[in-house]
Amino acid sequence: MQYRKYSFYILFVAVSFSWNFLNAQPYPQNYFRCPLDIPISLAGNFGELRANHFHTGLDIKTAGKEGLLVHAAADGYVSRIAVSSVGYGNALYITHPNGYTTVYGHLSAYNAAIQNFLRQTQYKSESFEQDIKPEKDQFPVSKGDVVAYSGNSGSSGGPHLHFEIRETKTEKPVNPLLFGFNVPDIIPPVIQAIKIYPLDTNSYVKVVYDQNGKSSLKSLTANYGQNVKVFAYKKGEYYYLKNVTLLQAEGNIGFSVEANDYKDHDYNKIGVYSIELCVNEEEIYHKSMNVLDFDLKRYINTHVDYAERMKTGSWFEKCYVSPNNELPIYDSLKNRGIVPMKSGNIYHISFYLNDYNNNFSTLAFDVSSPQVKPEIPPIEKGYDSILSYDKPHNINLGNIYINVPKNIFYDNVEFKYQDLPGKKHGYSDIYSLGNAAIPCQDYFDVGIKADNLPARLQSKACIVSYAYGYLGGEYDNGWVRAKTRTLGKFLINVDTIPPTLVPVNIKNGKNMAGTNQIRFLVKDNMSGVKNYRGTIDGHWVLFQHDAKRSLIYYTFDEHCPPGSHKLVLTAADDRNNTRTVEMEFRN
Ligand SMILES: [Zn+2]
Repeated sequence: MQYRKYSFYILFVAVSFSWNFLNAQPYPQNYFRCPLDIPISLAGNFGELRANHFHTGLDIKTAGKEGLLVHAAADGYVSRIAVSSVGYGNALYITHPNGYTTVYGHLSAYNAAIQNFLRQTQYKSESFEQDIKPEKDQFPVSKGDVVAYSGNSGSSGGPHLHFEIRETKTEKPVNPLLFGFNVPDIIPPVIQAIKIYPLDTNSYVKVVYDQNGKSSLKSLTANYGQNVKVFAYKKGEYYYLKNVTLLQAEGNIGFSVEANDYKDHDYNKIGVYSIELCVNEEEIYHKSMNVLDFDLKRYINTHVDYAERMKTGSWFEKCYVSPNNELPIYDSLKNRGIVPMKSGNIYHISFYLNDYNNNFSTLAFDVSSPQVKPEIPPIEKGYDSILSYDKPHNINLGNIYINVPKNIFYDNVEFKYQDLPGKKHGYSDIYSLGNAAIPCQDYFDVGIKADNLPARLQSKACIVSYAYGYLGGEYDNGWVRAKTRTLGKFLINVDTIPPTLVPVNIKNGKNMAGTNQIRFLVKDNMSGVKNYRGTIDGHWVLFQHDAKRSLIYYTFDEHCPPGSHKLVLTAADDRNNTRTVEMEFRN
Protein backbone atom coordinates (compact mmCIF):
# COMPACT_ATOMS: atom_id res chain seq x y z
CA MET A 1 0.00 0.00 0.00
CA GLN A 2 3.00 2.22 0.36
CA TYR A 3 3.01 3.25 -3.26
CA ARG A 4 -0.57 4.39 -3.08
CA LYS A 5 0.18 6.84 -0.33
CA TYR A 6 3.20 7.90 -2.27
CA SER A 7 1.27 8.41 -5.50
CA PHE A 8 -1.43 10.20 -3.58
CA TYR A 9 1.17 12.63 -2.34
CA ILE A 10 2.71 13.08 -5.78
CA LEU A 11 -0.70 13.65 -7.26
CA PHE A 12 -1.56 16.19 -4.64
CA VAL A 13 1.61 18.15 -5.34
CA ALA A 14 1.18 17.84 -9.10
CA VAL A 15 -2.41 18.97 -8.99
CA SER A 16 -1.75 21.85 -6.63
CA PHE A 17 0.97 22.95 -8.92
CA SER A 18 -1.07 22.81 -12.12
CA TRP A 19 -3.97 24.42 -10.32
CA ASN A 20 -1.82 27.38 -9.31
CA PHE A 21 -0.13 27.31 -12.65
CA LEU A 22 -3.49 27.56 -14.37
CA ASN A 23 -4.54 30.42 -12.18
CA ALA A 24 -1.30 32.13 -13.06
CA GLN A 25 -2.26 32.02 -16.75
CA PRO A 26 -3.09 35.40 -18.20
CA TYR A 27 -6.81 34.61 -18.23
CA PRO A 28 -8.64 37.54 -16.66
CA GLN A 29 -10.45 36.41 -13.52
CA ASN A 30 -14.07 37.43 -12.91
CA TYR A 31 -14.00 39.78 -15.90
CA PHE A 32 -17.00 37.96 -17.40
CA ARG A 33 -20.31 37.63 -15.63
CA CYS A 34 -22.59 34.64 -15.92
CA PRO A 35 -24.76 35.23 -19.02
CA LEU A 36 -27.90 34.07 -17.17
CA ASP A 37 -29.49 35.34 -13.96
CA ILE A 38 -29.45 31.85 -12.43
CA PRO A 39 -26.37 30.04 -11.06
CA ILE A 40 -24.47 27.97 -13.63
CA SER A 41 -25.54 24.35 -13.74
CA LEU A 42 -23.89 22.36 -16.50
CA ALA A 43 -25.56 20.09 -19.01
CA GLY A 44 -22.22 19.88 -20.82
CA ASN A 45 -18.67 21.09 -20.23
CA PHE A 46 -15.64 22.17 -22.23
CA GLY A 47 -13.79 19.40 -24.03
CA GLU A 48 -16.62 16.88 -23.75
CA LEU A 49 -16.36 14.16 -26.40
CA ARG A 50 -18.86 14.51 -29.25
CA ALA A 51 -19.19 13.01 -32.73
CA ASN A 52 -16.26 14.32 -34.82
CA HIS A 53 -15.51 17.20 -32.43
CA PHE A 54 -14.90 18.25 -28.87
CA HIS A 55 -17.50 20.45 -27.20
CA THR A 56 -16.05 23.95 -27.20
CA GLY A 57 -18.07 25.70 -24.51
CA LEU A 58 -20.33 25.26 -21.52
CA ASP A 59 -23.90 24.03 -21.98
CA ILE A 60 -25.68 25.95 -19.24
CA LYS A 61 -29.03 24.62 -18.09
CA THR A 62 -31.99 26.98 -18.41
CA ALA A 63 -34.35 25.18 -16.01
CA GLY A 64 -35.88 23.31 -18.96
CA LYS A 65 -37.28 26.56 -20.36
CA GLU A 66 -36.73 28.86 -23.31
CA GLY A 67 -36.84 32.65 -23.18
CA LEU A 68 -34.50 33.32 -20.24
CA LEU A 69 -32.72 36.66 -20.46
CA VAL A 70 -29.22 36.32 -21.90
CA HIS A 71 -26.86 39.07 -20.74
CA ALA A 72 -23.66 40.36 -22.31
CA ALA A 73 -20.88 38.76 -20.24
CA ALA A 74 -18.85 41.99 -20.39
CA ASP A 75 -18.60 45.31 -22.26
CA GLY A 76 -17.95 45.02 -25.97
CA TYR A 77 -19.76 45.03 -29.29
CA VAL A 78 -21.82 42.55 -31.29
CA SER A 79 -19.35 41.22 -33.85
CA ARG A 80 -21.38 38.44 -35.43
CA ILE A 81 -25.00 37.33 -35.77
CA ALA A 82 -25.27 33.84 -37.21
CA VAL A 83 -28.53 32.05 -38.01
CA SER A 84 -28.61 28.42 -39.06
CA SER A 85 -31.14 25.57 -39.10
CA VAL A 86 -28.44 23.35 -37.58
CA GLY A 87 -25.35 23.78 -35.34
CA TYR A 88 -25.57 26.77 -32.99
CA GLY A 89 -28.98 27.79 -34.40
CA ASN A 90 -29.43 31.46 -33.56
CA ALA A 91 -26.03 32.57 -32.31
CA LEU A 92 -24.58 35.86 -31.11
CA TYR A 93 -20.91 36.84 -30.77
CA ILE A 94 -19.70 39.71 -28.60
CA THR A 95 -16.12 40.92 -28.96
CA HIS A 96 -14.58 42.39 -25.82
CA PRO A 97 -11.66 44.82 -25.49
CA ASN A 98 -9.64 42.27 -23.45
CA GLY A 99 -8.90 40.07 -26.47
CA TYR A 100 -11.74 37.58 -26.03
CA THR A 101 -15.03 36.99 -27.79
CA THR A 102 -18.03 35.41 -26.06
CA VAL A 103 -20.48 33.26 -28.02
CA TYR A 104 -24.11 32.53 -27.13
CA GLY A 105 -25.81 29.68 -29.01
CA HIS A 106 -29.22 27.98 -29.49
CA LEU A 107 -30.99 31.31 -28.79
CA SER A 108 -34.74 31.68 -29.34
CA ALA A 109 -34.45 35.37 -30.25
CA TYR A 110 -32.29 38.49 -29.98
CA ASN A 111 -33.05 41.79 -28.30
CA ALA A 112 -35.33 44.13 -30.28
CA ALA A 113 -32.59 46.17 -31.95
CA ILE A 114 -30.64 43.12 -33.12
CA GLN A 115 -33.79 41.22 -34.08
CA ASN A 116 -35.04 44.11 -36.27
CA PHE A 117 -31.68 44.46 -37.97
CA LEU A 118 -31.54 40.71 -38.57
CA ARG A 119 -35.05 40.61 -40.08
CA GLN A 120 -34.24 43.50 -42.40
CA THR A 121 -31.12 41.68 -43.55
CA GLN A 122 -33.04 38.43 -44.03
CA TYR A 123 -35.68 40.19 -46.16
CA LYS A 124 -33.07 42.11 -48.14
CA SER A 125 -31.08 38.96 -48.94
CA GLU A 126 -34.18 36.72 -49.14
CA SER A 127 -32.53 34.15 -46.90
CA PHE A 128 -33.27 32.73 -43.46
CA GLU A 129 -29.69 31.58 -42.92
CA GLN A 130 -27.35 34.47 -42.12
CA ASP A 131 -23.79 35.12 -41.07
CA ILE A 132 -23.61 38.86 -40.41
CA LYS A 133 -20.57 40.70 -39.10
CA PRO A 134 -21.81 44.11 -37.90
CA GLU A 135 -19.51 47.12 -37.69
CA LYS A 136 -17.82 47.87 -34.37
CA ASP A 137 -20.05 50.85 -33.61
CA GLN A 138 -23.32 49.25 -34.72
CA PHE A 139 -24.30 47.34 -31.57
CA PRO A 140 -22.11 48.34 -28.64
CA VAL A 141 -23.08 46.52 -25.43
CA SER A 142 -22.38 47.01 -21.75
CA LYS A 143 -21.80 44.19 -19.29
CA GLY A 144 -25.20 42.88 -18.21
CA ASP A 145 -27.23 44.23 -21.16
CA VAL A 146 -29.93 41.87 -22.36
CA VAL A 147 -28.70 40.81 -25.78
CA ALA A 148 -30.87 37.77 -26.45
CA TYR A 149 -33.24 35.10 -25.10
CA SER A 150 -32.23 31.51 -24.45
CA GLY A 151 -33.74 28.78 -26.59
CA ASN A 152 -33.37 25.42 -28.26
CA SER A 153 -32.53 26.41 -31.85
CA GLY A 154 -30.12 24.58 -34.16
CA SER A 155 -28.81 21.13 -33.25
CA SER A 156 -29.85 21.37 -29.62
CA GLY A 157 -31.27 18.42 -27.75
CA GLY A 158 -33.27 20.50 -25.25
CA PRO A 159 -33.44 24.08 -23.97
CA HIS A 160 -30.04 25.35 -22.82
CA LEU A 161 -27.53 28.11 -23.47
CA HIS A 162 -24.30 27.23 -25.24
CA PHE A 163 -21.71 29.69 -23.87
CA GLU A 164 -18.24 29.91 -25.30
CA ILE A 165 -15.17 32.10 -24.84
CA ARG A 166 -12.73 32.41 -27.75
CA GLU A 167 -9.44 34.20 -28.21
CA THR A 168 -10.55 36.88 -30.65
CA LYS A 169 -7.41 36.82 -32.77
CA THR A 170 -7.11 33.06 -33.25
CA GLU A 171 -10.77 32.09 -32.66
CA LYS A 172 -9.47 29.30 -30.44
CA PRO A 173 -12.05 28.34 -27.81
CA VAL A 174 -10.79 28.48 -24.22
CA ASN A 175 -12.27 26.60 -21.26
CA PRO A 176 -14.60 29.21 -19.67
CA LEU A 177 -13.83 27.78 -16.23
CA LEU A 178 -10.31 29.26 -16.58
CA PHE A 179 -11.94 32.70 -16.21
CA GLY A 180 -13.06 32.15 -12.63
CA PHE A 181 -16.73 31.18 -13.01
CA ASN A 182 -18.02 29.52 -9.89
CA VAL A 183 -19.41 26.15 -10.98
CA PRO A 184 -19.87 23.76 -8.07
CA ASP A 185 -18.65 20.20 -8.69
CA ILE A 186 -18.33 17.81 -5.79
CA ILE A 187 -18.20 14.44 -7.56
CA PRO A 188 -14.91 13.02 -8.88
CA PRO A 189 -14.74 11.38 -12.32
CA VAL A 190 -16.11 7.85 -12.50
CA ILE A 191 -13.85 5.27 -14.17
CA GLN A 192 -15.75 2.58 -16.09
CA ALA A 193 -13.12 0.51 -17.87
CA ILE A 194 -9.73 0.49 -19.51
CA LYS A 195 -8.44 -1.10 -22.70
CA ILE A 196 -4.95 -2.45 -23.36
CA TYR A 197 -3.46 -2.51 -26.86
CA PRO A 198 -0.44 -4.41 -28.21
CA LEU A 199 0.88 -1.81 -30.66
CA ASP A 200 3.11 -3.89 -32.90
CA THR A 201 3.59 -7.45 -34.07
CA ASN A 202 6.04 -8.22 -31.24
CA SER A 203 3.57 -7.24 -28.52
CA TYR A 204 0.90 -9.14 -26.62
CA VAL A 205 -1.44 -8.80 -23.64
CA LYS A 206 -2.81 -11.55 -21.41
CA VAL A 207 -5.41 -11.04 -18.67
CA VAL A 208 -6.29 -13.83 -16.25
CA TYR A 209 -9.51 -13.26 -14.36
CA ASP A 210 -12.01 -15.10 -12.23
CA GLN A 211 -15.69 -14.82 -12.89
CA ASN A 212 -17.04 -13.18 -9.78
CA GLY A 213 -15.17 -15.46 -7.42
CA LYS A 214 -15.96 -18.72 -9.23
CA SER A 215 -13.04 -21.08 -8.86
CA SER A 216 -12.19 -21.52 -12.55
CA LEU A 217 -9.92 -18.88 -13.99
CA LYS A 218 -10.35 -17.57 -17.51
CA SER A 219 -8.03 -15.59 -19.68
CA LEU A 220 -8.20 -13.02 -22.44
CA THR A 221 -5.35 -12.49 -24.82
CA ALA A 222 -4.57 -9.99 -27.56
CA ASN A 223 -1.98 -9.74 -30.29
CA TYR A 224 -1.28 -6.79 -32.57
CA GLY A 225 -4.55 -5.57 -34.11
CA GLN A 226 -6.57 -6.74 -31.09
CA ASN A 227 -7.05 -5.39 -27.59
CA VAL A 228 -8.55 -6.37 -24.25
CA LYS A 229 -11.13 -4.49 -22.23
CA VAL A 230 -11.16 -4.69 -18.42
CA PHE A 231 -13.80 -3.10 -16.21
CA ALA A 232 -12.96 -1.06 -13.15
CA TYR A 233 -14.66 -0.85 -9.76
CA LYS A 234 -14.27 1.42 -6.78
CA LYS A 235 -13.47 0.24 -3.27
CA GLY A 236 -12.80 2.82 -0.63
CA GLU A 237 -10.95 5.69 -2.21
CA TYR A 238 -9.48 3.87 -5.19
CA TYR A 239 -10.43 2.08 -8.36
CA TYR A 240 -9.24 -1.46 -9.15
CA LEU A 241 -9.51 -3.79 -12.13
CA LYS A 242 -12.51 -6.04 -11.75
CA ASN A 243 -11.87 -9.78 -11.19
CA VAL A 244 -8.34 -9.58 -12.59
CA THR A 245 -5.88 -11.93 -10.93
CA LEU A 246 -2.98 -11.53 -13.35
CA LEU A 247 -2.09 -9.05 -16.06
CA GLN A 248 0.82 -9.77 -18.37
CA ALA A 249 2.11 -7.88 -21.38
CA GLU A 250 5.22 -7.38 -23.43
CA GLY A 251 6.35 -5.11 -26.22
CA ASN A 252 4.90 -1.70 -27.06
CA ILE A 253 1.72 -1.33 -25.04
CA GLY A 254 -0.93 1.40 -25.09
CA PHE A 255 -3.82 2.11 -22.73
CA SER A 256 -7.17 3.87 -22.97
CA VAL A 257 -9.78 4.72 -20.36
CA GLU A 258 -13.54 5.12 -20.34
CA ALA A 259 -14.69 7.63 -17.76
CA ASN A 260 -17.26 10.35 -17.14
CA ASP A 261 -17.47 13.22 -14.74
CA TYR A 262 -20.53 14.18 -12.73
CA LYS A 263 -20.89 17.46 -10.91
CA ASP A 264 -23.64 16.68 -8.43
CA HIS A 265 -26.30 14.08 -7.92
CA ASP A 266 -28.40 14.76 -11.01
CA TYR A 267 -26.71 12.00 -13.05
CA ASN A 268 -26.00 14.09 -16.08
CA LYS A 269 -22.61 13.18 -17.44
CA ILE A 270 -19.94 15.68 -18.37
CA GLY A 271 -16.43 15.23 -19.72
CA VAL A 272 -13.29 14.52 -17.70
CA TYR A 273 -11.06 17.61 -17.45
CA SER A 274 -7.71 15.89 -17.08
CA ILE A 275 -6.27 12.39 -17.45
CA GLU A 276 -2.78 11.45 -16.34
CA LEU A 277 -1.08 8.09 -16.90
CA CYS A 278 1.98 7.14 -14.87
CA VAL A 279 4.32 4.16 -15.16
CA ASN A 280 6.29 3.43 -12.00
CA GLU A 281 5.18 6.88 -10.77
CA GLU A 282 6.61 8.64 -13.81
CA GLU A 283 4.11 10.64 -15.85
CA ILE A 284 4.06 9.53 -19.50
CA TYR A 285 0.77 11.07 -20.62
CA HIS A 286 -1.28 14.02 -19.45
CA LYS A 287 -4.20 15.62 -21.24
CA SER A 288 -6.19 18.57 -20.01
CA MET A 289 -8.98 20.53 -21.60
CA ASN A 290 -7.86 24.17 -21.55
CA VAL A 291 -7.73 25.38 -25.15
CA LEU A 292 -9.02 23.79 -28.36
CA ASP A 293 -8.79 24.65 -32.04
CA PHE A 294 -11.67 24.37 -34.52
CA ASP A 295 -9.24 23.49 -37.32
CA LEU A 296 -8.12 20.43 -35.37
CA LYS A 297 -11.47 19.21 -34.06
CA ARG A 298 -11.57 16.05 -36.19
CA TYR A 299 -8.46 14.75 -34.46
CA ILE A 300 -10.89 13.65 -31.77
CA ASN A 301 -11.28 10.55 -33.94
CA THR A 302 -7.73 9.54 -33.07
CA HIS A 303 -7.86 10.83 -29.49
CA VAL A 304 -10.55 8.23 -28.83
CA ASP A 305 -10.68 4.55 -29.75
CA TYR A 306 -12.72 5.17 -32.90
CA ALA A 307 -13.31 1.50 -33.72
CA GLU A 308 -14.71 0.92 -30.21
CA ARG A 309 -16.93 3.97 -30.63
CA MET A 310 -18.25 2.61 -33.95
CA LYS A 311 -18.84 -0.83 -32.52
CA THR A 312 -20.29 -0.20 -29.07
CA GLY A 313 -20.87 3.56 -28.84
CA SER A 314 -18.48 3.83 -25.87
CA TRP A 315 -15.92 6.63 -25.61
CA PHE A 316 -12.47 5.36 -24.62
CA GLU A 317 -9.85 8.14 -24.45
CA LYS A 318 -6.53 6.80 -25.61
CA CYS A 319 -3.55 7.52 -23.38
CA TYR A 320 -1.14 7.03 -26.26
CA VAL A 321 -0.99 9.47 -29.15
CA SER A 322 -0.92 8.57 -32.85
CA PRO A 323 1.95 10.02 -34.90
CA ASN A 324 -0.53 12.15 -36.91
CA ASN A 325 -2.34 13.91 -34.07
CA GLU A 326 -1.95 17.68 -33.68
CA LEU A 327 -4.34 18.23 -30.77
CA PRO A 328 -3.15 20.89 -28.33
CA ILE A 329 -4.49 19.04 -25.28
CA TYR A 330 -1.45 16.94 -24.33
CA ASP A 331 0.51 18.74 -21.61
CA SER A 332 3.16 16.10 -21.32
CA LEU A 333 4.02 12.99 -23.28
CA LYS A 334 6.83 10.50 -23.04
CA ASN A 335 7.30 8.13 -25.98
CA ARG A 336 3.82 9.27 -27.16
CA GLY A 337 2.37 7.56 -24.09
CA ILE A 338 3.46 4.12 -25.33
CA VAL A 339 4.89 1.84 -22.64
CA PRO A 340 7.76 -0.38 -23.85
CA MET A 341 7.53 -3.49 -21.67
CA LYS A 342 10.50 -5.83 -21.47
CA SER A 343 10.42 -9.39 -20.20
CA GLY A 344 11.42 -9.88 -16.58
CA ASN A 345 9.98 -6.53 -15.41
CA ILE A 346 6.94 -5.39 -13.47
CA TYR A 347 5.25 -2.11 -14.34
CA HIS A 348 3.12 -0.19 -11.91
CA ILE A 349 0.43 1.60 -13.94
CA SER A 350 -1.66 4.39 -12.45
CA PHE A 351 -4.37 6.59 -13.92
CA TYR A 352 -5.26 9.90 -12.27
CA LEU A 353 -8.46 11.55 -13.48
CA ASN A 354 -9.42 15.06 -12.40
CA ASP A 355 -12.34 17.38 -12.81
CA TYR A 356 -11.79 21.13 -12.92
CA ASN A 357 -12.61 21.53 -9.24
CA ASN A 358 -9.81 19.16 -8.24
CA ASN A 359 -11.92 16.12 -7.38
CA PHE A 360 -9.91 13.16 -8.57
CA SER A 361 -10.06 9.40 -9.05
CA THR A 362 -7.18 6.92 -9.09
CA LEU A 363 -6.90 3.52 -10.72
CA ALA A 364 -3.69 1.55 -10.17
CA PHE A 365 -2.55 -1.98 -11.06
CA ASP A 366 0.57 -3.95 -11.95
CA VAL A 367 1.48 -5.45 -15.30
CA SER A 368 4.22 -8.07 -15.45
CA SER A 369 6.32 -9.08 -18.42
CA PRO A 370 7.22 -12.72 -17.75
CA GLN A 371 10.52 -14.30 -18.74
CA VAL A 372 8.68 -16.87 -20.80
CA LYS A 373 6.02 -15.66 -23.21
CA PRO A 374 2.67 -17.36 -22.52
CA GLU A 375 1.00 -19.24 -25.36
CA ILE A 376 -1.27 -16.94 -27.26
CA PRO A 377 -3.31 -18.13 -30.22
CA PRO A 378 -2.20 -16.42 -33.43
CA ILE A 379 -4.79 -14.22 -35.13
CA GLU A 380 -5.90 -14.52 -38.68
CA LYS A 381 -4.51 -11.75 -40.80
CA GLY A 382 -7.55 -9.60 -41.55
CA TYR A 383 -5.98 -7.23 -44.03
CA ASP A 384 -4.29 -7.13 -47.43
CA SER A 385 -1.65 -4.52 -46.62
CA ILE A 386 -0.63 -1.88 -44.13
CA LEU A 387 -0.90 1.69 -45.44
CA SER A 388 1.50 4.29 -44.03
CA TYR A 389 -0.20 7.39 -42.71
CA ASP A 390 2.57 9.69 -44.02
CA LYS A 391 2.39 8.61 -47.68
CA PRO A 392 -0.28 9.16 -50.34
CA HIS A 393 -2.17 6.09 -51.55
CA ASN A 394 -3.80 5.84 -54.96
CA ILE A 395 -5.77 2.64 -54.94
CA ASN A 396 -7.44 1.58 -58.19
CA LEU A 397 -9.41 -1.64 -58.43
CA GLY A 398 -10.68 -1.13 -61.98
CA ASN A 399 -14.24 -0.04 -61.25
CA ILE A 400 -13.51 1.96 -58.09
CA TYR A 401 -10.61 4.13 -56.96
CA ILE A 402 -9.64 6.26 -54.00
CA ASN A 403 -6.86 8.85 -53.95
CA VAL A 404 -5.81 9.35 -50.35
CA PRO A 405 -3.29 12.17 -49.73
CA LYS A 406 -0.76 11.77 -46.94
CA ASN A 407 -1.83 12.47 -43.35
CA ILE A 408 -5.45 11.43 -43.91
CA PHE A 409 -4.86 8.49 -41.58
CA TYR A 410 -3.57 9.05 -38.04
CA ASP A 411 -1.40 5.99 -37.91
CA ASN A 412 -0.48 3.13 -40.21
CA VAL A 413 -3.71 1.28 -40.99
CA GLU A 414 -4.51 -2.30 -41.81
CA PHE A 415 -6.32 -2.17 -45.11
CA LYS A 416 -8.56 -4.67 -46.84
CA TYR A 417 -9.35 -3.89 -50.44
CA GLN A 418 -12.60 -5.57 -51.26
CA ASP A 419 -14.92 -8.01 -49.61
CA LEU A 420 -18.17 -7.87 -51.58
CA PRO A 421 -17.37 -9.04 -55.08
CA GLY A 422 -20.09 -8.55 -57.61
CA LYS A 423 -22.97 -7.64 -55.32
CA LYS A 424 -25.25 -5.42 -57.32
CA HIS A 425 -27.19 -2.46 -56.10
CA GLY A 426 -28.30 0.76 -57.74
CA TYR A 427 -26.05 1.61 -60.66
CA SER A 428 -22.88 -0.14 -59.59
CA ASP A 429 -21.64 -3.09 -57.60
CA ILE A 430 -21.18 -2.55 -53.88
CA TYR A 431 -17.49 -2.02 -53.29
CA SER A 432 -15.66 -2.23 -50.02
CA LEU A 433 -12.42 -0.36 -49.39
CA GLY A 434 -10.88 -0.54 -45.95
CA ASN A 435 -13.62 -0.35 -43.35
CA ALA A 436 -15.73 2.32 -41.72
CA ALA A 437 -13.94 1.88 -38.39
CA ILE A 438 -10.75 3.45 -39.80
CA PRO A 439 -10.96 7.17 -38.97
CA CYS A 440 -9.93 9.75 -41.60
CA GLN A 441 -8.92 13.33 -40.92
CA ASP A 442 -10.11 14.93 -44.18
CA TYR A 443 -11.83 14.43 -47.50
CA PHE A 444 -10.30 12.48 -50.37
CA ASP A 445 -11.46 11.45 -53.85
CA VAL A 446 -13.54 8.37 -54.51
CA GLY A 447 -14.78 7.35 -57.97
CA ILE A 448 -16.99 4.49 -59.11
CA LYS A 449 -17.61 3.37 -62.69
CA ALA A 450 -21.32 3.61 -63.51
CA ASP A 451 -23.11 0.50 -64.71
CA ASN A 452 -26.05 0.99 -67.14
CA LEU A 453 -26.76 4.50 -65.91
CA PRO A 454 -29.22 6.11 -68.37
CA ALA A 455 -28.26 9.56 -69.67
CA ARG A 456 -31.39 11.13 -68.16
CA LEU A 457 -30.25 10.04 -64.68
CA GLN A 458 -26.65 11.21 -64.90
CA SER A 459 -27.38 14.49 -63.12
CA LYS A 460 -29.21 12.56 -60.37
CA ALA A 461 -26.39 10.10 -59.70
CA CYS A 462 -24.39 10.15 -56.48
CA ILE A 463 -22.13 7.98 -54.38
CA VAL A 464 -23.59 6.56 -51.20
CA SER A 465 -21.57 5.25 -48.26
CA TYR A 466 -23.08 2.37 -46.27
CA ALA A 467 -21.93 3.79 -42.96
CA TYR A 468 -22.48 7.50 -43.56
CA GLY A 469 -25.08 7.84 -46.32
CA TYR A 470 -25.20 10.31 -49.17
CA LEU A 471 -21.86 11.69 -50.37
CA GLY A 472 -22.98 13.57 -53.50
CA GLY A 473 -20.59 13.75 -56.42
CA GLU A 474 -20.68 14.42 -60.15
CA TYR A 475 -21.15 12.22 -63.19
CA ASP A 476 -18.11 12.44 -65.45
CA ASN A 477 -17.50 10.33 -68.56
CA GLY A 478 -18.86 7.03 -67.30
CA TRP A 479 -17.80 7.57 -63.68
CA VAL A 480 -19.35 9.17 -60.61
CA ARG A 481 -16.70 11.02 -58.60
CA ALA A 482 -17.21 12.36 -55.09
CA LYS A 483 -15.36 13.35 -51.92
CA THR A 484 -15.44 11.19 -48.83
CA ARG A 485 -13.80 11.22 -45.44
CA THR A 486 -14.83 7.74 -44.51
CA LEU A 487 -13.97 4.28 -45.79
CA GLY A 488 -16.06 1.14 -46.04
CA LYS A 489 -18.74 0.21 -48.53
CA PHE A 490 -19.69 2.47 -51.44
CA LEU A 491 -22.10 2.30 -54.37
CA ILE A 492 -23.73 4.53 -56.99
CA ASN A 493 -27.36 5.44 -56.52
CA VAL A 494 -29.69 8.05 -57.97
CA ASP A 495 -31.94 10.51 -56.21
CA THR A 496 -34.94 11.38 -58.38
CA ILE A 497 -37.43 12.06 -55.60
CA PRO A 498 -38.02 15.69 -54.63
CA PRO A 499 -38.44 16.74 -50.98
CA THR A 500 -41.90 16.46 -49.44
CA LEU A 501 -43.73 19.57 -48.23
CA VAL A 502 -46.48 18.56 -45.82
CA PRO A 503 -48.74 21.34 -44.51
CA VAL A 504 -49.12 21.25 -40.72
CA ASN A 505 -51.81 23.86 -40.11
CA ILE A 506 -52.92 25.16 -43.51
CA LYS A 507 -54.95 23.90 -46.46
CA ASN A 508 -56.12 25.45 -49.67
CA GLY A 509 -58.77 28.14 -49.06
CA LYS A 510 -58.35 28.15 -45.28
CA ASN A 511 -59.08 31.19 -43.16
CA MET A 512 -55.87 31.59 -41.14
CA ALA A 513 -57.14 34.47 -38.96
CA GLY A 514 -56.55 33.51 -35.35
CA THR A 515 -53.31 31.65 -36.08
CA ASN A 516 -50.00 33.45 -36.13
CA GLN A 517 -47.94 31.03 -38.22
CA ILE A 518 -47.94 28.94 -41.38
CA ARG A 519 -46.10 25.65 -40.79
CA PHE A 520 -44.90 22.89 -43.12
CA LEU A 521 -42.79 19.80 -42.63
CA VAL A 522 -39.99 19.55 -45.18
CA LYS A 523 -38.10 16.27 -45.60
CA ASP A 524 -35.98 14.56 -48.20
CA ASN A 525 -35.38 10.86 -48.72
CA MET A 526 -31.71 10.86 -49.70
CA SER A 527 -29.63 13.86 -50.70
CA GLY A 528 -31.16 16.29 -48.19
CA VAL A 529 -33.07 19.58 -48.38
CA LYS A 530 -30.67 22.02 -50.04
CA ASN A 531 -32.90 25.07 -50.14
CA TYR A 532 -36.49 26.25 -49.92
CA ARG A 533 -38.31 29.44 -50.77
CA GLY A 534 -41.68 30.80 -49.69
CA THR A 535 -43.52 33.70 -51.32
CA ILE A 536 -46.85 35.32 -50.52
CA ASP A 537 -48.48 37.19 -53.41
CA GLY A 538 -45.16 36.93 -55.26
CA HIS A 539 -43.03 38.44 -52.48
CA TRP A 540 -40.44 36.48 -50.52
CA VAL A 541 -41.38 35.94 -46.87
CA LEU A 542 -39.27 34.69 -43.99
CA PHE A 543 -39.81 30.98 -43.41
CA GLN A 544 -37.58 29.92 -40.54
CA HIS A 545 -36.11 26.42 -40.57
CA ASP A 546 -35.72 24.08 -37.60
CA ALA A 547 -33.86 21.12 -39.14
CA LYS A 548 -34.15 18.81 -36.13
CA ARG A 549 -37.94 19.04 -36.36
CA SER A 550 -37.94 19.11 -40.21
CA LEU A 551 -40.07 22.23 -39.75
CA ILE A 552 -40.30 25.46 -41.72
CA TYR A 553 -42.59 28.19 -40.44
CA TYR A 554 -43.61 31.73 -41.32
CA THR A 555 -44.82 34.03 -38.54
CA PHE A 556 -47.33 36.55 -39.91
CA ASP A 557 -45.84 40.03 -40.15
CA GLU A 558 -46.30 43.26 -42.12
CA HIS A 559 -45.55 41.36 -45.34
CA CYS A 560 -48.91 39.59 -45.07
CA PRO A 561 -51.62 42.10 -44.04
CA PRO A 562 -55.21 40.85 -43.53
CA GLY A 563 -56.81 39.81 -46.83
CA SER A 564 -56.72 37.06 -49.47
CA HIS A 565 -53.32 35.69 -50.41
CA LYS A 566 -51.51 33.16 -52.52
CA LEU A 567 -48.70 31.13 -50.98
CA VAL A 568 -46.08 29.45 -53.17
CA LEU A 569 -43.55 27.21 -51.44
CA THR A 570 -40.75 25.35 -53.18
CA ALA A 571 -38.06 23.05 -51.85
CA ALA A 572 -35.13 21.45 -53.68
CA ASP A 573 -32.79 18.63 -52.67
CA ASP A 574 -29.08 18.35 -53.38
CA ARG A 575 -29.75 16.61 -56.74
CA ASN A 576 -32.02 19.55 -57.74
CA ASN A 577 -35.28 17.66 -57.53
CA THR A 578 -37.84 20.38 -56.81
CA ARG A 579 -41.25 20.32 -55.17
CA THR A 580 -43.71 23.25 -55.38
CA VAL A 581 -46.86 23.73 -53.33
CA GLU A 582 -49.39 26.49 -54.04
CA MET A 583 -52.23 27.51 -51.75
CA GLU A 584 -54.73 30.31 -51.35
CA PHE A 585 -55.70 31.48 -47.90
CA ARG A 586 -57.24 34.40 -46.03
CA ASN A 587 -56.14 36.00 -42.79
ZN1 LIG B 1 -23.04 23.36 -26.45
